[in-house]
Amino acid sequence: MQEQTSSVFVALVGRPNVGKSSLTNRLVGEKVAIVTSKPQTTRTRITGIVTKGPAQYVLLDTPGIHKPRTKLGERMSKTATDSIADVDVTLMLFEPYGEFTESELALVEGIRASHGPALAVINKTDTLKAPQDAEIRARQLEQLGIFDKVLTVSVLADEGCDTLLEELRAYAVPGPHYFPDDAYTDMPEKALVSEVIREKMLLNLRDEIPHGIAVTVERFKERTDKNIIDIDVNIYCERKSHKGMVIGKGGQMLKKIASQARADCEEFLGAKVNLQCWVKVKDDWRDSDFLLNDFGFRQP
Ligand code: GDP
Repeated sequence: MQEQTSSVFVALVGRPNVGKSSLTNRLVGEKVAIVTSKPQTTRTRITGIVTKGPAQYVLLDTPGIHKPRTKLGERMSKTATDSIADVDVTLMLFEPYGEFTESELALVEGIRASHGPALAVINKTDTLKAPQDAEIRARQLEQLGIFDKVLTVSVLADEGCDTLLEELRAYAVPGPHYFPDDAYTDMPEKALVSEVIREKMLLNLRDEIPHGIAVTVERFKERTDKNIIDIDVNIYCERKSHKGMVIGKGGQMLKKIASQARADCEEFLGAKVNLQCWVKVKDDWRDSDFLLNDFGFRQP
């Protein structure tokens, strides 16, 4: 007899830089979330999907909670609070050391108010100075009184990740799977491409420019005769001066961004990629509802 299938929807929350995207990618085994050492890089809600035997895990990798400065910021925070409300379990990640931040305490209160089950995960155990430090942290987390369990992982050293999946299985709800068993994200390939390009801009450009940038994929076409995909993207900047910086002297910066992005795209698409990037100026897109809808962000 076949085992009964089940699925569990998991919200991944925690302060920026705690390792949510890294954990999602590790569990999924594919790059679905962008990872950088700069906070606030995850802009949209990304779903990572893992199917192991009868159980399907659906991971919502949420943007960090932070004070919204623009309409885009408001939408990002809304996405984070929304996902706690409609999941089977919330996974809150913590650093091994340091005071809890205001935003972490706000998230804790959000979980408490939702009455939903939650697990605490101490990430980055590879940075522990002494093994008993993890126990001290675990004690602090238990005292918050909202977590069923406190687990420890190191995404970097690949420790504890499989145990974490086992623990999540306890929250799975019997029923059919929501996604095909070989799916690893419900994010369309086009969206993955624009996330990768944004990641490369964050890595290569000064801080203030990439946060004011949007990327849209205008063409995504697989050639019928060869394993080649032609992709055209528009990169929208807020200012003319930003456009110059994205392009760089003699087009060097844009070339670098495009070639790094192409390498990543070829890996996850499993095909050769012919990538063309066009840089354009759109004034104040971050505060315009019209353009935000155009770029696919949800209404608050
Ligand atoms: P997010 O903002 O919560 O999604 O965090 P990211 O996944 O983008 O990770 C932020 C930074 O922490 C990156 O530089 C990661 O390489 C690093 N990081 C993630 N997991 C670990 C870990 O287990 N150990 C260490 N030492 N660093 C980690």
